[in-house]
Amino acid sequence: MVRNDILVPSIANVKEIINETSDIKTYKLFSNAEKAQKFKPGQFVMVYLKGFGEVPISLSDLVYEEDGGSLITLTIRGTGTVTKYMLSTVNIGDKIGIRGPYGNNWPIEEALGKDILIAGGGIGFAPLRPVLRFVSNNRQKFGRLVVIYGARSPNDIIYKYEIEEYKKIPGIELFLTIDKPAEDWKWNVGFVPDMLDKVKLDGDFKYFVCGPEIMMKITAKKLVNKGADPRDIFVSLERRMRCGVGICGTCQLGHYYVCKDGPVFSFDQVSQYMEVEGI
Ligand SMILES: Cc1cc2nc3c(=O)[nH]c(=O)nc-3n(C[C@H](O)[C@H](O)[C@H](O)COP(=O)(O)OP(=O)(O)OC[C@H]3O[C@@H](n4cnc5c(N)ncnc54)[C@H](O)[C@@H]3O)c2cc1C
Repeated sequence: MVRNDILVPSIANVKEIINETSDIKTYKLFSNAEKAQKFKPGQFVMVYLKGFGEVPISLSDLVYEEDGGSLITLTIRGTGTVTKYMLSTVNIGDKIGIRGPYGNNWPIEEALGKDILIAGGGIGFAPLRPVLRFVSNNRQKFGRLVVIYGARSPNDIIYKYEIEEYKKIPGIELFLTIDKPAEDWKWNVGFVPDMLDKVKLDGDFKYFVCGPEIMMKITAKKLVNKGADPRDIFVSLERRMRCGVGICGTCQLGHYYVCKDGPVFSFDQVSQYMEVEGI
């Protein structure tokens, strides 16, 4: 029997909003419905805006305990009905609905002692940020840390205000890149997969990749061509979702439900389902 209460949102208060780019904002929400320890990097919540609907959004930072509740960070791009309404209308002090956390997580505990490569494209860097934070907080427990983050242009880079902090993470090999040359840009130019040619990949790596599906597929294939085991490459998939808990079947992908078996999958599990023609 299905428990109805798992589909009922709880109230979260908007505590802070950060304008990231022209169409992306980061929201810090306080909720006392769930304990912070329940949330794991890679998981998502369903965000509910009364009268508009619900959308799945990934945790974009570790969830911290605060005043007997949880401080949850979400980074949202306005793409359609619900997300555009969120960006244009929801302000500090407003209450919104959230359910979750749902889905599985990036396997960072399994990656302890290994080298880590994080590759994010655009807003796909958001679900990877808690991985970076975790590795940074537990730096001595991991080997090499390679971070590749690509955006279309300097204006499309999210978390700009944290780049100096990232540069200080001991031993980090950081590759910021934009698609085309731009004035005053001192980092790399090229797509995320191109950056792999600049990295020595001879370690014992776990690879965490998130971005547009084409970027994930090209990156993962290139890693495989460079000798990576597809079971060590993890991607986070986006599919339309309704329930978020494996009831409705909207997000079915082969024999998986993205909401409950994912959103994080090894490339080995899902390469055949990734919707990119000709690759
Ligand atoms: C597990 C998961 C985590 C996500 N995390 C984030 C996040 O951290 N930040 C963020 O901005 N977005 C994230 N998304 C995508 C986000 O859920 C969609 O952008 C949102 O549902 C669009 O809803 P809408 O009502 O604003 O747009 P709609 O009006 O419903 O659609 C606008 C456009 O987006 C496409 N679309 C709608 N829903 C999805 C979906 N679930 N997957 C792919 N394309 C979709 C539609 O086909 C259409 O082209 C995530 C999606 C999933 C499945």
